[in-house]
Amino acid sequence: MIDIPTIILALSIGNLGFALLMAGYVRGSGPDRALRLWMWSRLVLGLTQFVGWALPGTWADEVAAAGGIGCIAAEAAAYCIYFGFHRWQRVLLPAAGVALLALAGAAVAGANYVQLMGLACAFVAVFAAAIAFILLRARTGRPSFLQRVIGVNDALFALCMALGGWEGLLHPEHALGSNPAHAVAGMAAYLLMIVNSVGFLLLCKQKGDEQMALLATTDFLTGLINRRAFFERAEAARLLALRLRKPIALLMLDIDHFKQLNDRYGHAAGDEALTAFAATARATLREHDIMGRLGGEEFALALPATDLGGALLAAERLRRAVSAAPVVLGCGAEHVLRVSIGVVVVEPNEPLTAALARADHGLYAAKSGGRDRVETGPAVLRRA
Ligand code: GH3
Ligand code: MG
Ligand code: MG
Repeated sequence: MIDIPTIILALSIGNLGFALLMAGYVRGSGPDRALRLWMWSRLVLGLTQFVGWALPGTWADEVAAAGGIGCIAAEAAAYCIYFGFHRWQRVLLPAAGVALLALAGAAVAGANYVQLMGLACAFVAVFAAAIAFILLRARTGRPSFLQRVIGVNDALFALCMALGGWEGLLHPEHALGSNPAHAVAGMAAYLLMIVNSVGFLLLCKQKGDEQMALLATTDFLTGLINRRAFFERAEAARLLALRLRKPIALLMLDIDHFKQLNDRYGHAAGDEALTAFAATARATLREHDIMGRLGGEEFALALPATDLGGALLAAERLRRAVSAAPVVLGCGAEHVLRVSIGVVVVEPNEPLTAALARADHGLYAAKSGGRDRVETGPAVLRRA
């Protein structure tokens, strides 16, 4: 019905090929424990399958079956590392040990080749089901589409393996490859090799891309979005406000006499104060308000669906919150921060930079008016 040795050879070549591909990817992507584990498991599996194919009817068959169990357990462990499930990781190693011992015990007890393969398939089915669970159900947040594709593939694979295991254990007299269940299990193993290997690589790449995007848009010190991201998001909010015919307010903020704090307590204390300021300000804002650090001790805010009256209230609330929350510095000293704020509402079709320049004028007025205050920016900027 199906030529099992050819399937095993194809699996071996495929797994070795993927191991090689991953070795190349891992070299270029820095130390990633999950990928490395995956790469080694594929290499070991490919080699054991090759030995099983080259020396049929010998101990090599058991080695290939053990390789299958070890590899799928290592794959499950790689997913645990990927998602940060450390407790699961600790369960997997003993579980794989028990499965391998059971396989060895069955071989010593005189189980025939078909029975051993059936037992191996049954264990592989359990580990594959665990991977499907990790991908689809465990606390991994809402599974991404890619995660779901791989998870469903693993669930189907677990089902096929369970079928192969059932057949092998219940009908040891059927020669391997003589039954549709064997064909299904063999083809499923082939599908798993391709979908899971490519899928895991893509998952790792997706995670890497997300981390890069976060790094590129986040201010490392305060955790707020950086200047570039602020301009992008504020511009998107401005266009949306224009379309919905809603007002959008812009605020420019600058901490007062920040240099004095640095000079008195040191740069590290200044950094702590910036972080505390950002947290206090963020806590006074609504979910959809956009706050970014433009640089140094200067920040900007975009408040969608907010008119001038609302923006002045929000700015005043923020100013009060900042001065009411003294920052406790690492050295033990307490320091009260003050902030000056310039406020404008973006005119229809006014470019973001022009509105920010007006808010900056408001900020300048707040500084020259004595600091620790909120001022409205001019309606139009006069040319110098
Ligand atoms: P003003 O009230 O007029 O705003 O005075 P100021 O002292 O706040 O303003 P000035 O522009 O003179 O000084 C800003 C200081 O902020 C100077 C700079 O060393 C400090 N600074 C800028 N970025 C950082 C940072 O990331 N960490 C720390 N600790 N200090 C910073
Ligand atoms: Mg400044
Ligand atoms: Mg300042």
